[in-house]
Amino acid sequence: MADVVCLGILVADVIARPVDDLPVRGSLGLVEEISLHGGGCALNTASVLARLGLSASVVGKVGADPFGDFVLGLLDERGVERGGVLRDPEAPTSATVVLVDSGGERTFLHLPGANGCLRLDELDDEALFSGRALHLAGALVMPELDGQPAAAVLELAKECGLTTSLDTVWDATGRWERILPSLPFVDLFVPSLAEAAAISGEQEPEAAAARLRERGVGTVSLKLGAEGCYVAGAQFEGYVAAPAVEAVDSTGAGDAFAAGFLYGHLTGWPLERTARFANAAGALATTAVGAVEGVTGLEETLALTRT
Ligand code: ADP
Repeated sequence: MADVVCLGILVADVIARPVDDLPVRGSLGLVEEISLHGGGCALNTASVLARLGLSASVVGKVGADPFGDFVLGLLDERGVERGGVLRDPEAPTSATVVLVDSGGERTFLHLPGANGCLRLDELDDEALFSGRALHLAGALVMPELDGQPAAAVLELAKECGLTTSLDTVWDATGRWERILPSLPFVDLFVPSLAEAAAISGEQEPEAAAARLRERGVGTVSLKLGAEGCYVAGAQFEGYVAAPAVEAVDSTGAGDAFAAGFLYGHLTGWPLERTARFANAAGALATTAVGAVEGVTGLEETLALTRT
C-alpha cells in the first residue's frame, strides 16, 4: 500500500541548451546538450516522495511509444509503484521540448498527448484509494477529468478517509472555474500565487488564501518562488521564507514543494514546520538541472530546513 497515490500528468521532457535564437527556417542549428528527463507533476511529486522515504504510486496514462517506455522505466528506477499507469495505443505520451537559453530562461513546446485522454471510468478504485493520501497533480490540463470528475474522485477519497491534496497547472485557456467543484474536498491545496489569484480573483496572498478556504479547502499553501510560501490553515497563517540556495533550474520546484508538504502533513508536523520542510524540498529542486534531481534525500532536506 502506497502512502501517497499521485493521480495526474506524466511527461517526457526533451531539454535542449543553449538555444538563444531559433535557426533560420529550413536550416540547422547546433546545441551543446540535448537530454531526456522525467516531467509532469505526478511523476515529479511521486519521485520526490520516494526520495524522502515515503512509498508513492502513480495513476495516469502514457502512450505505447518509446517516451512511454522511458517514463515507466524512470518510475521503476525511482522506486515509484506504477501499476495504475495505463498505456493508450492511440495517444502519444505527453512530451515537452524545453529550449533553455544561455541565461537559463526556458521556452516550451508542449504536447498534452495521453494525459489529455485520461478518463474517470478507466480508473481503478483499488489503485486510487488504497493509500493514506490522494494527490491530484496537474489539475486543469486533464480535460477529461477536470471539473466534476476530479471533484468526484476527491469526494470519494475523502469518504474513504484519505487525506486529499491538489496541485494545479497554469491554465492557458483561462477556464479556472473548473477547479471550484473540487475545493470542498481538498485538505491541502498548493497552487502558485498566480494560479490562486486567477482562481480566487484576489492578488494578495492573504485574501486569495481566505477565498480558497471559504470555498472549503482545509489548508492553503501559496508558492512564492524564491520568497518561499504563504500558508493558511486552522492553527497557523503567515509567510514562511525559503532557504537561500544557488538556483540553476526551477523546473519541478513546485512539485517538490508539494511532496515536502505532503511529507510534513502525513508525519504529523505542525503547519509552519511542514511549510519550512516543503520550502527546503522546493529549493533543493532548483539546485540541479531536471525537475527532481536536486532533491537527493530526507537528510539533506531536513538539513536545509534547519538553516
Ligand atoms: P512553481 O514551480 O509551481 O512555479 P515556485 O517557483 O513558486 O513553484 O517554487 C516552488 C517552491 O520552491 C517555492 O515555494 C519555494 O519553496 C521553492 N523555491 C523555488 N525557487 C526557489 C529559489 N530560487 N530559492 C529558494 N527556494 C525556491
